[in-house]
Amino acid sequence: MIWAKEETLPRAEIEKIQLEKLKQTVSYIYEKVAPYRRKMEEEGVKSEDIQSLADLKKLPFTYKADFRDNYPDGLFAVEKRDLVRYHASSGTTGKPTVVGYTRNDLEMWLNNVARIACMGGATSEDVAQIAFGYGTFTGALGLHGGLEKVGASVIPMSSGNTNKQIMFLQDMGVTLLVATPSYALHLGEELRARGIDPSKDLKIHIGLFGGEGMTEPMRDEMHKVWGEQFVCTQNYGMSELCGPGVAGECTELCGMHINEDWFIPEIINPETGEVLPPGEQGELVITCLGKEALPLVRYRTGDLTRLMYEPCKCGRTTARMENLSGRADDMLVIRGVNVFPTQIEEVLFKIDEIGPHYEILVERKNRLDVMTITVELIDDRLLDGYTKLNELEKKIKSALKSQLGLATQLRLVAPNSLQRFEGKAKRVTDLRKDGL
Ligand code: ZN
Repeated sequence: MIWAKEETLPRAEIEKIQLEKLKQTVSYIYEKVAPYRRKMEEEGVKSEDIQSLADLKKLPFTYKADFRDNYPDGLFAVEKRDLVRYHASSGTTGKPTVVGYTRNDLEMWLNNVARIACMGGATSEDVAQIAFGYGTFTGALGLHGGLEKVGASVIPMSSGNTNKQIMFLQDMGVTLLVATPSYALHLGEELRARGIDPSKDLKIHIGLFGGEGMTEPMRDEMHKVWGEQFVCTQNYGMSELCGPGVAGECTELCGMHINEDWFIPEIINPETGEVLPPGEQGELVITCLGKEALPLVRYRTGDLTRLMYEPCKCGRTTARMENLSGRADDMLVIRGVNVFPTQIEEVLFKIDEIGPHYEILVERKNRLDVMTITVELIDDRLLDGYTKLNELEKKIKSALKSQLGLATQLRLVAPNSLQRFEGKAKRVTDLRKDGL
């Protein structure tokens, strides 16, 4: 099912809608958001300079750092009383990125999520189990609201608690699972370990995955554990843009359709900022159209992809973005949570007993991401006293958990045992390269 007629318009009509909304958005952001107005003035661009979609490139970029510099709500265009919801995600420093929604924004957001749920095959017949963590993360409440719009019955399970997940999958006749791909694999393997064959013993046939990318080897593995009947698609979004609902794969599995009447995509050279021709790979930049609380123009997502404009066999005419090939910055996605090495550094630097050298190792064990942080002690005599060492370990782990929102493994090692670097330190080793 195709949720909205805007998904199937001829290109000229999509572009007409985009241009009209773009002009409104630029005047709106200039008038309501002081930091963006300053940027436009610095670059000498006026709202009336935007007369075609090609003029978009005249506008200044918005960066993740703009959220940090204007924390918590300096980029908002409305008063607090007009907001009906806040969400937040982890940022590059200790402070989260806070986003807000008016009533119209929520409506727009959840309709866009309904579109991507339909792209993945969801209907009003589905029983949907949401295994994303609820809270300020946009994933859970986004898919929750979007699937309710479609008419599915939603089970707000939240993340973790594998026994309960399995019980509901069986007892409630769940047909659709929302999760990170790595958790879905873990859950599928647990089912198999208990002698449950999802293709025979469960009704499950749809997986809607997000929070982290899914590679093709991972999708193959998903079919091995969940069965061939399991259609798994991934979708794309980030809280700054609204949350999930920016783009999603249809069941043809040939890239993610972008909801172009609400989001204009551009691909740029991440080094120079220059806009690249259609089909070339580069950093994805998104302009949000018609958002009230948090209008964003030319937001640098840091994600690397390419755009495809040929109409799809599914009937949608919207541009598709290729599944992500990486990030332009250093962000790690661990079990769906964004982690920046600088956040880890910030925690470690505050603890007196350890030195400034550390290493981060990310692996996938039993289908789950495991992050191990190795840190040097200042005084190696600590290694001889079990109780003190144990206390210190607990202290560091709990500080890391409260900063990152994620449990980590910790190794404390003797002074001077970690490798030193002369140039840029290579602190992160990510062994998840095979995509499994
Ligand atoms: Zn399609």
